[in-house]
Amino acid sequence: MGMGERIAEWPVLRQLRGEGGDRLGLRQAVESDRTHHLTARTATADRVVESICPYCAVGCGQLVYVHGDEVTQVEGNPASPISRGRPCPKGSATKALVTGPGREQKVKYRRPHGTEWEELSLDRAMDMIADRVIDTRRRSWQEHDDKGHPLRRCMGIASLGGATLDNEENYLLKKLFTSWGAVQIENQARI
Ligand code: SF4
Repeated sequence: MGMGERIAEWPVLRQLRGEGGDRLGLRQAVESDRTHHLTARTATADRVVESICPYCAVGCGQLVYVHGDEVTQVEGNPASPISRGRPCPKGSATKALVTGPGREQKVKYRRPHGTEWEELSLDRAMDMIADRVIDTRRRSWQEHDDKGHPLRRCMGIASLGGATLDNEENYLLKKLFTSWGAVQIENQARI
């Protein structure tokens, strides 16, 4: 493209020519060639999955755009009665939580007095947690008080949920911990 042609493509000249009927220079007249050929990340998705923002207890609805097995974009869900498709800046960055290089993909374990993190298989980690729950429950179980009144509770296990837990997770946590006999079950968003 020669100098004359390049000058003719200046946005202000295209605006003055009224290119695309855009005399105010708000759309086509000021669009670069690169912008003109950009494709939205949502355009290539072959599936859209409804989800909930993982960050806080407001629980805004999200649409997760998926191409193959890759998440290509996460946006607010207009059908969400809470935010009607308008997530806050943190919720707008949810894709980075899923695809960012800092995301941990393996179970990490630091043994008592250890100074380094070790990698564990998920099966091994789940077995270790189950062993600890069974042992703690057995040692801290209270069948009755000093006067013989029934207690049937486990005082050695408590749960303090974070605000990123959604309704369904909190429901399951309450159900699980109550089934163990735990009575100290709380959530940060309620405190
Ligand atoms: S989009 Fe923002 S306000 Fe909504 S749930 Fe996520 S972090 Fe909370």
